[in-house]
Amino acid sequence: MTQLPTAEIDEFKAHFRGDVLLPGDPAYDEVRQIWNAMIDRKPSLIARCTSAEDVVQAVKFARIHNLLVSIRGGGHNIAGNAVCDDGLMIDLSLMKGVQVDPNARRATVEPGCTLFDFDAAAQAHGLATPLGINSTTGVAGLTLGGGFGWLSRKYGMTIDNLLSADVVTADGRQVHASATENDDLFWGLRGGGGNFGIVTRFEFQLHAVGPDVLSGLIAFPFDQAKSVLKQFARFTETMPDDLNVWMVARKAPPLPFLPEEVHGKEIVALAVCYAGDPNKGEKLIEPLRRFGTPHGEHIGVQPYTVWQQAFDPLLTRGARNYWKSHNFSQLSDGAIDVIIEYASTLPSPQCEIFVGAIGGQTARVAPEAMAYSSRDANYVMNVHARWESATEDERCIAWARQFFAKSQPFASGGAYINFLTQDETARIAFAYGAAYNRLMEVKKKYDPANLFRMNHNIKPA
Ligand SMILES: Cc1cc2nc3c(=O)[nH]c(=O)nc-3n(C[C@H](O)[C@H](O)[C@H](O)COP(=O)(O)OP(=O)(O)OC[C@H]3O[C@@H](n4cnc5c(N)ncnc54)[C@H](O)[C@@H]3O)c2cc1C
Repeated sequence: MTQLPTAEIDEFKAHFRGDVLLPGDPAYDEVRQIWNAMIDRKPSLIARCTSAEDVVQAVKFARIHNLLVSIRGGGHNIAGNAVCDDGLMIDLSLMKGVQVDPNARRATVEPGCTLFDFDAAAQAHGLATPLGINSTTGVAGLTLGGGFGWLSRKYGMTIDNLLSADVVTADGRQVHASATENDDLFWGLRGGGGNFGIVTRFEFQLHAVGPDVLSGLIAFPFDQAKSVLKQFARFTETMPDDLNVWMVARKAPPLPFLPEEVHGKEIVALAVCYAGDPNKGEKLIEPLRRFGTPHGEHIGVQPYTVWQQAFDPLLTRGARNYWKSHNFSQLSDGAIDVIIEYASTLPSPQCEIFVGAIGGQTARVAPEAMAYSSRDANYVMNVHARWESATEDERCIAWARQFFAKSQPFASGGAYINFLTQDETARIAFAYGAAYNRLMEVKKKYDPANLFRMNHNIKPA
C-alpha cells in the first residue's frame, strides 16, 4: 500500500474540514465497506467530505500525489467502484443536505443522500422525482447512470428531471452545469457516470406524487409462470403511464400474506405502483389478478415513502452479490422461456430474475439529448445472484452468467451502466452505445488525464 508522508497528510488535514481516515483508524474498516460484500478494498486514505470545498481539497491532494481516486455516494454500485485499493477514497456519504422549494417544485440534493433522504424531504410537500426502488441506494450514482423506478413511465428517467449540477472537475475547479452553462458537461453527466468530475449538488424537478399511492404485490404459483409472463408482456406494452408493473421470479420470502407452505418455493410476483388517483388505479390493475390463480396479494393505498422501502429487507447490505443485465425493447416468448428455465434452478434462496418495465415518458426523449441513449429499452432485466458464503461464489456467479448468455439473443441494444459489474469492461462502449464517441470528447475536455477512472470508464478521445 502507498505510504504517504505524514507531513503531507497533516498538511491535507489542515485544509480539510471532514475526517481523514487511515488504515488502522477505528472507523476505517466500517467506512470502506459498501453494499456488495464481494468488494473488500483498502484505500490508502479516506477523505470524508463535508462540503464542496472539501471535495476540491481532496481532488487537489490526489493530483499532487498521483493517487488513484474512487468516489463514494451511496456505496451501492455492484461493481464496487466507490472504493479503491491503494488510493484515495473520496467519501461523500456525509453530505446529506436536501432543500425543497415547494413553490418552484425544485429540490437541491447533496451527493451523500440516499433515495430515502430525498423522498422523505420531497414527500413532506407531496412531491417526488423518479428514483430507484430500494431506498438505501445513493441518489448520486443512480442519477449519473440514468435512474429509473416506479415513477419513470410517468415522469421519465431521473436524469430527465435533472436541472443542473455543481461539479468539481479534475483540475479542482468548481463549475455549474445546466442546459445553458457548460452544456456539454451537463449532457455527459446525464448517463456518463462519474467520468467527468465530482458532483457536489444536484438540482431536480419535482412532481406532485401521492403522498399515498396504490401499490403492492401479487404472487402467483410458479407452474403458472409462462401464462403470467406472457400476459405481463402484453399488458405492459399498452398500460397507461401512471401505472407501472414489474415482475420478479424468485423463491418466496416468508411474507405474511403468503401461505406458509409457499415460503421458500419458486413464485412469480408482480409489483405494482399506480402514480395517479388510487380509485382509477384499482380498475386498471384488476386484470392483473386474473393472469392466474394467485397465492395471495398485498396491495393497497399506502404512503409512497413506504412503498419506496418495500424491497429494502430483501436488499440489505452485507450479502455477496453478482448480477448481469440486458435491455429489452419487447419481452418475447423466447426471453420468457429462458427466464422460466433459470428461475427453476435458483442457486440460493435470495437469487432472483426481475424485469422492470420502463418505456412511457422515458422513451419520448431523443436518444442524443443526453449521454443515456437507450431510449428503446422498454424493459430492463436483471439476473441477481445473491448469497451469503464465499464458498457459493462460483455456483451463483455461473448461474447468472449462463442465464445472461442464453437470454442475449432476445435483448435489444445498449445496457444500463448502473448495472454493469466489475468484470464487464468489454461491455462499456456497448452500454454507452451511440453516445460513446461524444462522451470521449467531453472526457478529453474535462478530465484529459483520466483522474476519474474508477468507474465504467470513458477513455479521453
Ligand atoms: C439493491 C439495489 C437496487 C437498485 N435499484 C435500482 C433501481 O431501481 N433503479 C436504478 O436506476 N438503479 C438501481 N440500482 C443501481 C444503482 O443506480 C447503482 O448501483 C448506482 O451506481 C448506485 O449509486 P450509489 O451512489 O449508491 O453508488 P456508489 O457506489 O457510491 O457510486 C457509484 C459510482 O458513481 C460515481 N459517483 C457516485 N457519486 C458521485 C458523485 N457525487 N460525483 C461523481 N461521481 C459519483 C462513482 O463513479 C461511483 O463509483 C440499484 C442498485 C442496488 C444495489
